[in-house]
Amino acid sequence: MADPLFRRIAFIGIGLIGSSLARVVRRDGLAGGIVACARSAATRETALRLGLCDEATEDPAAAVAGCDLVVLCTPLGAYEDIARRIGPHLQEGCIVSDVGSVKALMDRAVKPHLPPGVHMVPGHPVAGTENSGPESGFAELFEGHFTVLTPSAGTDEAAVRRIEALWRAAGSMVERMDAGHHDQVLAITSHVPHVIAYTIVGTATDLEDRLRSEVIKFAASGFRDFTRIAASDPVMWRDIFLNNKDAVLEMLGRLTEDIAGVQRAIRDGDGATLETLFTRTREIRRGVVAAGQHIAPAPPEDRHGED
Ligand code: NAP
Repeated sequence: MADPLFRRIAFIGIGLIGSSLARVVRRDGLAGGIVACARSAATRETALRLGLCDEATEDPAAAVAGCDLVVLCTPLGAYEDIARRIGPHLQEGCIVSDVGSVKALMDRAVKPHLPPGVHMVPGHPVAGTENSGPESGFAELFEGHFTVLTPSAGTDEAAVRRIEALWRAAGSMVERMDAGHHDQVLAITSHVPHVIAYTIVGTATDLEDRLRSEVIKFAASGFRDFTRIAASDPVMWRDIFLNNKDAVLEMLGRLTEDIAGVQRAIRDGDGATLETLFTRTREIRRGVVAAGQHIAPAPPEDRHGED
């Protein structure tokens, strides 16, 4: 039998994303062994009970011993402390990767703590749901979605190829990108939409009682999709905004200017401007559908072909 892709993998954090990738590794026999690291005993027990790992520990330093791959799957705010703790225990040739939604952070917070001979290959699966924890994961989460890898120039090519193989096994389409470019693209495609959703749901929540109950009653008119996005994990999203500050502020600045333009067109009764804008945006939607990126991932039992 061929050797597995990795001898031993440590997942530091085993929530939605970590557990989904661990399920892929288990399903395809991609590692000789898996160790999971989580803070809470409940998460560790769940990971063991679900068979996601062979061992579970709360100590990141113990988790990485003897591993040839370490994947950070915690909120971004935990990265620096974890890197500091695991650095001295990483074996020569080990690959350190992650799944975080902001990529320049790996160079800032993780790289300085890695010893020579350890390869850093940051990654971001552009797939997810609004759920958290090891029970919410599923092996099919990444199928048909992009995973972006942001290795810096000079990173060991063999190490990058092994991480590409891992994500391809998960059903992802893999792209390489510069970390800063990734953070700009994601600021407009993911981070700013979350600002809008959190804000609009917050605004509705602050409305007087009578209006608020009507908002929930008539949610299907468009508000519903915002409530789904605004139900995303608060800690994860706090960390995304704290760690992609410049790109998010730049995109929010542009958005604010564009909203002022729409506001003016509505005030002036300028139907032509509104119609031109809405026709252009409809084209974008057609492009998203044509690229097959319009269907949100859902656990297999929940799939009704929703949009
Ligand atoms: P999650 O379901 O909340 O799981 C987070 C995991 O990290 C849990 O096992 C948690 O352990 C552990 N953890 C949290 N804080 C920690 C700390 N300070 N030290 C050590 N372990 C800690 O989160 P997730 O949705 O999988 O997100 C994980 C990463 O994936 C984030 O960086 C996020 O940016 C990225 N990502 C998320 C999505 C998405 O849609 N959710 C999509 C793409 C990428 P306990 O349970 O013991 O606290």
